[in-house]
Amino acid sequence: MSVEVRDLHFSYGKVKALDGVALDLPKGAIGLLGPNGAGKSTLLRILLGFLSPDKGEGRVLGYDIKYQQPMIRRFVGYMPEDDCFIPGMDAVSFTSYLGELSGMPRQEAMKRAHEVLFYVGLEESRYRNIETYSGGMKQRLKLAQAIVHDPRLLFLDEPTSGLDPQGRKEILGLIIDISSKKDIQVLISSHILPDIEATCSYVVILNKGRLAADGNISELKQIKYSLYEMKIKGENKNFLQKLRDMKSNVEETEDGLLKVYMPPGKNPQDIFKTAAEEKIQIRHFVKSQTSLEDLFAKVVGVD
Ligand code: ATP
Repeated sequence: MSVEVRDLHFSYGKVKALDGVALDLPKGAIGLLGPNGAGKSTLLRILLGFLSPDKGEGRVLGYDIKYQQPMIRRFVGYMPEDDCFIPGMDAVSFTSYLGELSGMPRQEAMKRAHEVLFYVGLEESRYRNIETYSGGMKQRLKLAQAIVHDPRLLFLDEPTSGLDPQGRKEILGLIIDISSKKDIQVLISSHILPDIEATCSYVVILNKGRLAADGNISELKQIKYSLYEMKIKGENKNFLQKLRDMKSNVEETEDGLLKVYMPPGKNPQDIFKTAAEEKIQIRHFVKSQTSLEDLFAKVVGVD
């Protein structure tokens, strides 16, 4: 497993960003999909050791996220969503400096900086002040600094953010090349399903700090989820948790409607049984069908 986490919780003050996430990610290119605010960046920052979880534990490449952060940073590359540049620097100095920060000797870092800038197509502008770069060039530079120290695993946070179609195509092409030819595992966070489909075979969907679904994209797309809409009376915390434990995705709308997406193999009796156990009264119950594509659409907020 490249990444394993158990029961991760994290809040920024009163904002709950991660609410009990558990994952076992296989090797290969993995998509981390979810709408804005789902908790993707927070999860990546915790995996890198930049944030400490309120609760829960995890390992990245076998290293403990709480106690072995230097090893994780040695073997993991990170392309953050926000710009991470140092004003006034050119691309070569910046990239080699970050290589040194990851533990590389100065000369080697400089040599690698030239190589990776060539690889991402910035060889001609590598001595230019980064502040004069276009959005697409900045994204490619962020990718270059993330691979300068030859990581085994690469975290990419919204790598196509702010790019035009051509820039997006170029970055996705580089990501595919990195994961297929360079033997580097990638974990790509995005709210754009086509970007994930273009680069990954496995996906993890986060929504509101919780795991909504995970698995092989082509297999997940075959699954027909059953959607049950209901209204209930009474306190519902344990009830919702039990439904989620059955691998259902549960959503509460503002007008008090509960939408429960159940995977195959589960049926309404499971809901009624759980409601009875928790002494919950179900007042309104409607069934409809949906596919994972609808679930993606709902989770990522597109129609
Ligand atoms: P995005 O694509 O918009 O970055 P995301 O899925 O990466 O979304 P996070 O950035 O992890 O989501 O944010 C999860 C939740 O935590 C959101 O509600 C967000 O507003 C909140 N949040 C994130 N960073 C902070 C912070 N530094 N202080 C307070 N709240 C934060």
